[in-house]
Amino acid sequence: MRMPCLVARESNTIPQSVLYSDPSSVSEPDSHDIAYWIVDMQDWRAGWQLVASLREHLSPKVYLRPIVYMNADNSMPEEISKAADGQLNGNLDNGTMLEVLASSFEKTNQWIDHLPDTNTAADANISFKVLRLIASREGEQKPVTTVRRKSGYVYPLLEPLFSKRDEGVLEILEFLDTQKLISGSFVSKAHFCSSCNSAFINFKESCPQCGADDLAVDELVHHFRCAHMGAMSDFMRGSSMVCPKCDRELHHIGVDYDKPSIMYTCNQCSHGFQDPAIMTSCYNCGRSTEPENQLSRVISAYSISAIGQNAASYGMEALFTKILDSELQLCSFDAFRDFYRVEAARIRRYKKSESSLAMIALRDIDKLYIRLGGRATEVFGELSTVFRTVLRQSDVITARNESIFFVIMTETSTQHAERAVERLREGITELLSSNLDFAPEMSSLIKTISVDMDLDKTLEAFLQT
Ligand SMILES: [Zn+2]
Ligand SMILES: [Zn+2]
Ligand SMILES: [Zn+2]
Repeated sequence: MRMPCLVARESNTIPQSVLYSDPSSVSEPDSHDIAYWIVDMQDWRAGWQLVASLREHLSPKVYLRPIVYMNADNSMPEEISKAADGQLNGNLDNGTMLEVLASSFEKTNQWIDHLPDTNTAADANISFKVLRLIASREGEQKPVTTVRRKSGYVYPLLEPLFSKRDEGVLEILEFLDTQKLISGSFVSKAHFCSSCNSAFINFKESCPQCGADDLAVDELVHHFRCAHMGAMSDFMRGSSMVCPKCDRELHHIGVDYDKPSIMYTCNQCSHGFQDPAIMTSCYNCGRSTEPENQLSRVISAYSISAIGQNAASYGMEALFTKILDSELQLCSFDAFRDFYRVEAARIRRYKKSESSLAMIALRDIDKLYIRLGGRATEVFGELSTVFRTVLRQSDVITARNESIFFVIMTETSTQHAERAVERLREGITELLSSNLDFAPEMSSLIKTISVDMDLDKTLEAFLQT
């Protein structure tokens, strides 16, 4: 039977009906199937961090699992209250209520269980996580507006994935949409700053002559009797209206006068005009430009497509790793660990040579996917060639996921290993800056292989940086 699991900073008195997990080490207890995570939202800011740590987790068994808020109040923003799959009204001793909630999530939980790699998978690619989250829930993901993010729109279910970054969700959804993995239905249209992607844009009337937006606005008044036209302010005498030309009092709009339009006067250059120029300026980066130079985007609600459902289940192709594998023959992590042990023992025994362990992380590979779109296969192929050129046949390489690589460089001093990694960095930068104006950030660490070094701890420490 599936059990709900309370995620909390410290365990106070937790009834038998729920399991308890410390968020700093959230992982699914082996012997139990979790029905959903319960997060206490009494202090919603603290609760939100727990929600983010669950959704940012790499295991699909953790990040896809439904989240239920306990003690939710109305003070939290809409995008946070809607990020939950359900609400728990009552206390944790109410077994019936806990079960009712569990059965309402059965479909999502079955979907998670049907994933082929659910026990071992580590989904690092954020586009893939977005796809899986959408696929695991029924219905459409609808956007809500917010001032807390510069995109102005957020998708509550996906929001905790982006707690540490202020952009990307709209681009990722657009990318998945162009790949036909999700399909969108029209919600609205919105303008975004073409320079920084902010949705907060000020539309201003400005002077067509000097560009200033310091304008005096007045209604134009037309006196029928004498045909005089002038600004409303020229007609005002106290609370009544008197024509400045013929001195007659005006009484009824439509009978003795009308207001044909609005007139503007520039307070800077005194130019008078009826059609002001429209300018936009961005609240975030301050850039000013004509509205047609800003981005106009369709905002959609998204649901999974048939191909998307398939890709979400069986992988969006860890494209880069797949291509690399065909070029370089990546080895499994277990084989890598065995090889490491043998190599460390060999070095201690002969004390003649030095071998190095290189750890390489390419951050933001998922951004590359998005930028490359249909060219991903081609460019990743060229990237693989860079790896192959720099790394020798004798090096043993494994991929932790599609962006983290561990390499055993036999008979190579740390100095030479540093140089190889540097060449790799240069090759990647050169390739990508000629293709795109973007290169993934690369971090690396080199260690001398020795029996005294704990491989798992070393790799883990690198992953934490
Ligand atoms: Zn002016
Ligand atoms: Zn008049
Ligand atoms: Zn901007």
